[in-house]
Amino acid sequence: MSDKITKATRHVSQNEGLIFEKSSPGKRAFDLPSLDVPPVDPQEVLGDRHRGEGVAGFPEVSEIEVVRHFTRLSTWNYAIDLGMYPLGSCTMKYNPRVNEFIARLDGISTEHPLQPSELSQGCLKILELLEDCLREITGMDAVTLQPAAGAQGELTGLLLIRAYLESQGDPRKTVLIPDSAHGTNPASAVIAGYRIENIQSDSRGQIDLAKLRERVTEDVAALMITNPSTLGVFEQRISDIAEALHSRGALLYMDGANMNALAGITRPGDFGVDVMHLNLHKTFSTPHGGGGPGAGPVAMKKILEPFRPIPVLIGKRNGELALEENRPQSIGRVKAFSGNFGVLARALAYILAYGPGIRQATEDAVLNANYIRKRLEDVFDLPYDLPSMHEVVFSDAWQKATGVNTMDIAKRLIDYGFHPYTTAFPLIVPGAMMIEPTESESKEECDLFVEAMRAIAREASSNRELVKQAPHTTRVGRLDEVTAARKPILRWKGTDHSAA
Ligand SMILES: *Cc1c(COP(=O)(O)O)cnc(C)c1O
Repeated sequence: MSDKITKATRHVSQNEGLIFEKSSPGKRAFDLPSLDVPPVDPQEVLGDRHRGEGVAGFPEVSEIEVVRHFTRLSTWNYAIDLGMYPLGSCTMKYNPRVNEFIARLDGISTEHPLQPSELSQGCLKILELLEDCLREITGMDAVTLQPAAGAQGELTGLLLIRAYLESQGDPRKTVLIPDSAHGTNPASAVIAGYRIENIQSDSRGQIDLAKLRERVTEDVAALMITNPSTLGVFEQRISDIAEALHSRGALLYMDGANMNALAGITRPGDFGVDVMHLNLHKTFSTPHGGGGPGAGPVAMKKILEPFRPIPVLIGKRNGELALEENRPQSIGRVKAFSGNFGVLARALAYILAYGPGIRQATEDAVLNANYIRKRLEDVFDLPYDLPSMHEVVFSDAWQKATGVNTMDIAKRLIDYGFHPYTTAFPLIVPGAMMIEPTESESKEECDLFVEAMRAIAREASSNRELVKQAPHTTRVGRLDEVTAARKPILRWKGTDHSAA
């Protein structure tokens, strides 16, 4: 076979253009039978208000062209159904199919939040049961399911703290945030009207308790702690930290986005946390890698309960579950209706499918992270040497000498058939390589990943350029990320997409 033929025949489907380029006037995917009733003028029947002019430039294509176009595009993506995402639950852990099945059931997917409550009893029951499960898992007294994301949960939790302290006649102005916290924490505190103060971690990635005690003044409303922290380690003196805050009238907020490291093993409510959020789209499994809908329920202790967002789900009245709006101390609404119901239904399906086995999911997630850590710790630098929780954070310090950094290693990982891990986060680790395998990966898949990482570590010294210029097996090679971020091209401008 000549080189020409090989080139012309290889990966033809990988040269997929834009669907607009396939368009030819009058082509369509269907044919309707001719009318057997007298035609009417839609404008006359519907009025102007209900009549659109159509979409300018809408592609006109056949059914098979549509199907092939989108199927081909889908093969360009990495997918959780193809292999591991070392980004873990924060981006995309495996979402058991049963969750999707449940969320699509009639009566769950088709209900409307405005339908009368006697027709919504099943949906309200789902919300009630999920609140119960989350109270049990967190060890807290009450839950609001309304917030649509982790960050919105943080804001909601802080507004609860603020409303509580104000009701005590003790408004305070400051929120303390350790440097190992998630980046959304300081942003949420500022939006909630607080001044923030940073607390440095010690060399083990833990909060310095003596220093914290000095910092908790009469002006401190709360400490916002991410636990396990963004270093993937558990805050070992969390009970003492809670004590230090409570003795000064301050509250403890826990960012529980990564509850998949704790669920079924320990409960924040039992170690002194006053209020926390959960990321159902992370720990409790909803696909959200493409930025899809999420849910960031907030679990709280009794003292905060009167301030919960409305409507509040209350127990049975006259034999029916009901939503109550009349709550004078409430911070108000944070999201329409009762939150992102589809995500809530998936989370309940996930929790009920595991039952008490949720503990094993946690143990498997922690085991997988520690397994990968053990198998890679002789080839990559480990800046904080405490047992890992659900994730392990290496750094590129040992590869830096040859000029290979975390981004190069991540790009090279693509050539080995894996999605890159999280690069350059957390910020307190220069050149961070954060790896979260999650509970779903088998030992075989973890081993494949480890072998790929070890091979790249060897290449970093033996074949530096190979790593620096990766990826080599993808449709496009190394992109200019700075230009892509600064001058993004977001709109299709014409048929000549190669010039874009
Ligand atoms: C993902 C994450 C958040 C933010 O959650 P969103 O749903 O993306 O708003 C907050 N804290 C931690 C620790 C997280 O991992």
